Amino acid sequence: MKAAVLTSYDTSLSRRDFVTYQDVPEPKITGPADIIVRVGGAGVCRTDLHVIEGLWRDRVSISLPYIMGHENAGWVAAVGSSVELVKVGDPVICHPLVSKGEALAARRGNDMHAGGAFPGIDSNGGYAELLKTAERAVIKLPQTLAPKDVAPYADAGLTAYHAAKKAARHLLPGDYVVAIGAGGLGHIGIQVLQALCAAQIIAIDRSELALNLAKECGAHHVIKADGKELEAVLALTEGAGAEAVIDFVGEGDSVAKGLKMTRNAGCYYIVGYGGKVEIPTMDMIVTEKTIVGNLVGTYPDLVELMALADRGLVTLATREYRLDQANAALHDLSNGTVKGRAVLIP
Ligand SMILES: [Zn+2]
Repeated sequence: MKAAVLTSYDTSLSRRDFVTYQDVPEPKITGPADIIVRVGGAGVCRTDLHVIEGLWRDRVSISLPYIMGHENAGWVAAVGSSVELVKVGDPVICHPLVSKGEALAARRGNDMHAGGAFPGIDSNGGYAELLKTAERAVIKLPQTLAPKDVAPYADAGLTAYHAAKKAARHLLPGDYVVAIGAGGLGHIGIQVLQALCAAQIIAIDRSELALNLAKECGAHHVIKADGKELEAVLALTEGAGAEAVIDFVGEGDSVAKGLKMTRNAGCYYIVGYGGKVEIPTMDMIVTEKTIVGNLVGTYPDLVELMALADRGLVTLATREYRLDQANAALHDLSNGTVKGRAVLIP
């Protein structure tokens, strides 16, 4: 089969070709619960850039060459002997983690802390014609949703949903919520907030393209990240800040500013990563702010998100690239020129 293969790291992201389009052996069913998916779309994620930079090198044990791509949807191509949930030909979206179902965390519905395989990060992923996953990870898609249109929901959408759902649980009408970053994740998070709560949504981004998308997605206020975004949020919220701030950037000065945009007793949700949280403990007790980490989302989260997508309450802005254009997609993401989410189509 064809695949876009990562053969070496590039810590400065300066190479023209990050991945190589080549023939590789097809994945095979080896366990009774295994599923092979014919990839219909693979989302291109900032995490893939972090993988190329070598940021994940010490976190997971994988040796190069391997195939990235953890945001996958497609059609079931083959199933192991015990699979009952889906049959060959069914359209599916793949939860990115093939979690260990017997683990206590998984039984409690906390897939991301149950351990397991994460195709695209610690094993071969979906920048390929075929992907190996397992019954525990797949969700059958309704007829309304085509795999290539929903693939990025598997991680970008799921992560945005997971954080926005936590915020929506405490946001009341009249409250404010800030989305820092209105790109691939942020534009989904804004729609989820719209669907799940009645708070006023403020979107912040450096790019006009992203701010326009944020408006289309239902943001009530948009603020250009021009260095004065903190002051702009405080002005909108009568100096108090927002009850919830969801930081889809998580690096540069967004962390310090995000914390300052958070109202006393409010919550700061970290979704994007790469930066550092630094806050004096005294400030934590005086302000009673809560800092919340977010790691992808659970299988039920993804089922709920597909229900929103099926009803048209969340739509995904995508830009399609052929699998052999993976380098162009990665560069466009790196340069911030993709509106919404890049998807590779094998
Ligand atoms: Zn991702």
